[in-house]
Amino acid sequence: MSKTLVIKACKCMVKRDSGGQVYIDYCPKHKAAPDMYEALEKLINDLPDCTIDWARDGMGNTNANCIVNSRDSGKAALAKARGE
Ligand SMILES: [Zn+2]
Repeated sequence: MSKTLVIKACKCMVKRDSGGQVYIDYCPKHKAAPDMYEALEKLINDLPDCTIDWARDGMGNTNANCIVNSRDSGKAALAKARGE
């Protein structure tokens, strides 16, 4: 039987098991964080600059800028996850 010590806004919970060990019972979003990190890293690394050029040529600057902004946001999120 574990005892819940703290429930975060995201629903992550800090608990203590019957042996006194404190642990985190992660919410679904935080359980998925490592997978999301890897997926985002792959998405950004696999997005070649030619894709942005292609978007600019085929769909105009607005769509190309959307891709650039999304890529920059993804890079910032990855850096934040690395503690940078
Ligand atoms: Zn959480």
